This record gives sequence, structure tokens and C-alpha cells, in this order.
Amino acid sequence: MNDVMGSANGITIKSPRELDLMREAGRVVAEAKAAVKEAIKPGATSAEMDALAEEVIRSNGAIPSFKGYKPTPSMPFPATICFSFNEELVHGIPGNRKIEEGDIVSVDFGAIVEGFHGDSAFTVGVGEISEEAQRLIDVTSQSLYEGIKKAVVGGRLTDISHAVQEYAEDCSFSVVREYVGHGIGRSLHEEPQVPNYGSPGRGPLLKSGMALAIEPMLNVGRKETKVLKDGWTVVTSDGKLCAHFEHTIAITEEGPEILT
Ligand code: MG
Ligand code: MG
Repeated sequence: MNDVMGSANGITIKSPRELDLMREAGRVVAEAKAAVKEAIKPGATSAEMDALAEEVIRSNGAIPSFKGYKPTPSMPFPATICFSFNEELVHGIPGNRKIEEGDIVSVDFGAIVEGFHGDSAFTVGVGEISEEAQRLIDVTSQSLYEGIKKAVVGGRLTDISHAVQEYAEDCSFSVVREYVGHGIGRSLHEEPQVPNYGSPGRGPLLKSGMALAIEPMLNVGRKETKVLKDGWTVVTSDGKLCAHFEHTIAITEEGPEILT
């Protein structure tokens, strides 16, 4: 069978074989997520979590997606995972900082199997966290599932965006605008962008064989973010807490299939 089944509106449609490779990449990402989630404890460093994720990914014969990833040629991402603390939203660089009781931490993972990517993230509280922090985590997680429900054949892309925004804002959290979900496959970031906000019923028609990374990012306070001097770490502009959940999904005739 031909490897490439073609495209619709510039969005690649994966063949059954390609989807199987994405399932395997997703399985590896899920395994790395589970290992790191289990290992997140007060006193552990984010660099240790990074080493663990890399070991799980490589022991499965896969390659970390993010290590060496270069959106700008001069600044490759130096690690396997992004590890972000509290007011850090995404793209935190693992290092010697210790995880502490009361932190909420966001971890983003990517793995490549035979050229195909999986991409997934979660936020988790460490020990006892505030009621507000727990609610932020729960709502962000649920907003992802509200979006995934709309990833169905015959729907429109922004049905996903709208479902995320509506759920998040009904729960009084703000939705980050500067960072969005994306198509995924042979590249980590493919067309289309998948915003977490907007009116429903717009954008590309969703078709079987499309794969998307849906990734709501919600803030307790204002929606604005800024990038720290390291050129990577994104924080909330007001320093308040934020959370991030992501799954790679495939759109199938039977409905959305979560790969990660
Ligand atoms: Mg990700
Ligand atoms: Mg992503």
C-alpha cells in the first residue's frame, strides 16, 4: 500500500500503516508519562525526570522528539522532556531544581517511532496542593476531553477549539492564546494549528486518518504569557498558576482515538 494517502486542506491523511506507527509512538509516550508521574516526588530534580523519560523512550527503540528540536536554528531544545514548575506553562528546561511539596508541575513528552511522532503532556500536584490548584488541574484535564469529543469525522476543526474554551471559561479559568495544538505525524508540528479558543464550525473539515495534538493551556489569572531569558521557558505574565494537558489523537470512523 502507498505510504501516503494524500491530504485534505494541506492536512496529511495517514494510511493505516502510518496510524499503526503513531499508535506505537503514542504507546511509548504513555509509558514514559507513567514512569515520570510515578517518580515525581519532593526532592527529585527535573533533570532526573528527564533522564528517566529518555531511558524509557530509548529502551523502547524510539527517539525523543524534543531533544535537538530547533524552531530557531541557533537554539536546539537540550532535553527529552519539557518540565515546568507552577507559573511556568510550557517549555521549561530540566535542571537541578528540586521538586517541592505543594508544587504543581507540567511535563511534556515526545517520541518518534520509525519517523512518526507522539506528543503528550500532563500537570500534576506534588503532595498537598491548594484547592484552587487542584481545580485548575482537573478543569484543564477535562477541557482536553471536551475538545477530544469534537474530533469526529464531519466536524470542523474549531469545534474542538470552542469546546475547550467554553468549558475552561465556564469554570472561570483563562485560555492561553499564544500557544496552540497542532497536526502531527512525520513532523512534530504539522498543519493545522489547533487553537484552544474561537467560534465553532470553522476551519478544515475533519476526516478519518487525520492526527492532531490537542493541548489546552489554562491560567488561574490573566491569559497572557511571556518567555524567560533562557529563550524557552514560558511563564504566566502575572506569575499565577497554569496547567497543560495534551494528547495525540487520531480521527477515525469510529470516533476519536487517543494514542498517548
Ligand atoms: Mg507536547
Ligand atoms: Mg504539542
